[in-house]
Amino acid sequence: MAISKITKQAAKTPKAKAAKTRKAPSVAEPGKVLKRPRYTRAETLEIFQRFHADNPEPKGELDYVNAFTLLVAVVLSAQATDVGVNRATKTLFQIADTPEKMVALGEDRVREEIRTIGLFKTKAKNVILLSEQLIRDHGGEVPDDREALELLPGVGRKTANVVLNIYFGHPTIAVDTHLFRLGNRIGIAPGKTPLEVEKAMEKAVPMEFSLHAHHWLILHGRYICKARKPECRRCVIYDLCRSPEREHFDAIPEIALKTAALVAAGKTCLDD
Ligand code: SF4
Repeated sequence: MAISKITKQAAKTPKAKAAKTRKAPSVAEPGKVLKRPRYTRAETLEIFQRFHADNPEPKGELDYVNAFTLLVAVVLSAQATDVGVNRATKTLFQIADTPEKMVALGEDRVREEIRTIGLFKTKAKNVILLSEQLIRDHGGEVPDDREALELLPGVGRKTANVVLNIYFGHPTIAVDTHLFRLGNRIGIAPGKTPLEVEKAMEKAVPMEFSLHAHHWLILHGRYICKARKPECRRCVIYDLCRSPEREHFDAIPEIALKTAALVAAGKTCLDD
């Protein structure tokens, strides 16, 4: 009998039919967006306990001295690295750390100071416009309010979320390129758009970890679960990860074992 005929017949057996109708497991191919997270609540809790045990007080990497300079730094960081932004703002923030001083400095000078950053012309314009708007509408203060922040030139949802989280201590999750990738690659908060990932993250992240979740995930995406090639051997959640992109090793990497042991011993629990 020809092989193709055998295959066709085999496909008609009850066993094969059942296999065909069985639901696909929650491990999608890379690049495919999952309908729901790959993890149970207990597994997600363990993931964030590991991040916490590894780095109890994660910090952002942008330099700033007050709410205004943080806002400006975040506006400048779109399509630029934090290191590049810090280099450019070092002198700028020494001269102008308030909206009034920024307006007095003027657009041309701001443009000169930040010319090493991508899109510097548009960004210089926005920095002056948002400074003017802060003076006009908020007495020169940065508002602790999403809507008001998003009305400022150059400020979108992501920037507002960063400021609300870092400066005002709200448990917001700013979805940048790293969080978007991790949400989908690891399958912790899948979504087709940054907003979908943000909403999925809000649901997935256990409440006690929501303040720092954004930083842990950014740092994890920037240094470990990198875009081109994740460094799975250095990953604290290796054994929990269900990403199809996870590298296979014969043994669980030591860093993951050590961090799991810390969590099991309750060494760095938030209640400590
Ligand atoms: S095991 Fe690899 S793919 Fe999974 S989270 Fe860690 S670095 Fe990313």
